[in-house]
Amino acid sequence: MRNVSQREIEEMLKAEGKEFDLLIEKAGKVRRKHVGNKVYLRGVIEFTNKCSKNCYYCGIRKGNKSLKRYFMSKEDILKSVRFASEKGLGSVVLQGGELKGKQYVSFIEEIIKEIKRIDSSLMITLSLGEAGFDDYKRWFDAGAERCLLRIETSNSDLYKKWHPQDHKFEERLKCLENIKKIGYQTGTGVLIGAPYQTIEDLAKDILFYKDFDVDMIGMGPYVIHYQTPWGSEFKDWFERERENIFKLAIKMIAATRIVMKDINIASTSALAALHSEGRVIGLKAGGNVIMPDITLPEYKENYKLYENKPSLNSPLEQSLNSILLVIDRAGFIPAIGEEGSSLHYLKRVSG
Ligand code: SF4
Repeated sequence: MRNVSQREIEEMLKAEGKEFDLLIEKAGKVRRKHVGNKVYLRGVIEFTNKCSKNCYYCGIRKGNKSLKRYFMSKEDILKSVRFASEKGLGSVVLQGGELKGKQYVSFIEEIIKEIKRIDSSLMITLSLGEAGFDDYKRWFDAGAERCLLRIETSNSDLYKKWHPQDHKFEERLKCLENIKKIGYQTGTGVLIGAPYQTIEDLAKDILFYKDFDVDMIGMGPYVIHYQTPWGSEFKDWFERERENIFKLAIKMIAATRIVMKDINIASTSALAALHSEGRVIGLKAGGNVIMPDITLPEYKENYKLYENKPSLNSPLEQSLNSILLVIDRAGFIPAIGEEGSSLHYLKRVSG
């Protein structure tokens, strides 16, 4: 596509009825042409629900005192890693709240090395929030290839409304720049359909993805969590808007696929929290990545970022099987045994 304008993206995000169907069809065609008909698997290990931050929308924010906090042992994390390796998932995601400190940085570094000792072909994505340049670099040198840091919104004013004062948009952006500079396959994403956000904001988010030249996207609809500041403030609004929020998230996937073509886009679990076939629809709209939750079941229920999160408590095998069924229902093929690097990244680094 020639350089797409903000106006054109806004039109896609406003599509309804027949136009909505045409948008999904077009995104599906672009997907098949540029990234094929496979779906890459990323086994997510949510190894800690401890977080030093307090984002207004998030269920594991520091201020939520009703949560039982956990930090998985190295042995438990590696059980999930072995499962991913045996099942040929191709890659794992280490995901946790944002934590700091020398001991923590060393722990992550050691886990990355252990994963590579278990299966050197298993790709590692980090989804750990903001960190210093040197910390990201140490993790990269230890063997992590991909890093995901959601910008949440590319509108700095909106970012201020969604976060406490000490959460700085500029710092987040700097982290994302550092991730790319270090050489990671770089991923970001936004929260879709959240309070105060407009179609114009979302269209600009897609232009941000394009200008930043990201390799992968993990974005999802806003889903309420009751034990958050937004949980009471926006409860009625959310119930009225949930269908529109879901549809908007699907349109964001489709529009991003049309604009960015060869990047990896996840059909995220938050879609399933709003619609029983959410992830199927997300794949049909242009998603080519799905992330089975392979956290050990005894921890899963305490990693509740939002209400109605799917597969809480399911054993690993069951979690994976339900994802394979999602891929099948969407009419695609699971890329078992494939690392699934972003084609965009491979082209970007080969010049
Ligand atoms: S969104 Fe991330 S950084 Fe913010 S509170 Fe939740 S886990 Fe922590």
